[in-house]
Amino acid sequence: MGTKDKLGRFSVGKGDVKLMPRWGARALFEPETKIKKTSSNPGLASLTLRKKLTDRLRKRGIVDETVLNAISVVERHQFVDSALASMAYEDLALPIGFKQTISQPFVVARTISIVRELLSNNMSEDELAQLNILEVGCGSGYQAAVLSECFGKVTSVERIHPLYEKALKNCEEYISKQKLKLYFYDGKSGFNDGAPYDAIFFSASLEKFPDELIDQVKNSGVVLAPTGVNTQYLLAGIKDLSLSKSFSISSYDVVSYVPLREGLDRL
Ligand code: SAH
Repeated sequence: MGTKDKLGRFSVGKGDVKLMPRWGARALFEPETKIKKTSSNPGLASLTLRKKLTDRLRKRGIVDETVLNAISVVERHQFVDSALASMAYEDLALPIGFKQTISQPFVVARTISIVRELLSNNMSEDELAQLNILEVGCGSGYQAAVLSECFGKVTSVERIHPLYEKALKNCEEYISKQKLKLYFYDGKSGFNDGAPYDAIFFSASLEKFPDELIDQVKNSGVVLAPTGVNTQYLLAGIKDLSLSKSFSISSYDVVSYVPLREGLDRL
């Protein structure tokens, strides 16, 4: 069966992915009935609300202080429609239009924690803060902003033009500081221009793990991809040259992401 490490991983090895998530079948999205209205002026109160959110993430097992700090710095209410701003600091995915959702804070924190942990072998915090990251599925730009707080250089691609434009606006600060680059692009096969990456995050789900991205990541780099048809599992593949150009894949949580789509939508 393999042993469970501190991140909840069960097995490593190509062709031997044991799908035994740490979080069991527990849904990451909470029922809408639990949504409480918070402040009618989240801008003013957002520091307190963000602190409450990070406390909640801590209770759910997020321990990486760099990630918690990044979540507490990024003003999530700026990434959603003003009508939803009062719910921005609930731990929920929220609609951003075009049948897409802003990533749930727990999922953002969990995925970045997993990748930082996998990359941290022989790497100092300073080195981790320099890394080159790709996100496929920029959406509102929220996860891209949190990634920009954690890593050196982030590229994020989006296939729906109006969302790409919104993300450009939402992420202005990171773009102007040259921490983040956004592209209107179909990232189903990654994005070669910024490669090789230390990590690639898929923010939309795939039917199968994207082994073909092996040349876009550095050796020991990580591809994190929610994968599956009926049930999705968060899979992380570490590039391992000893496996002759392949990934060593581990399975984490059961998740619920919007599906990856092909082609560009200009709408
Ligand atoms: N991380 C985003 C979540 C966005 S939801 C946030 O924090 O807001 C997933 C996004 O992936 C959607 O915006 C969807 O349009 C985008 N997407 C789906 N397939 C894609 C593809 N092939 N290339 C680029 N983006 C894609």
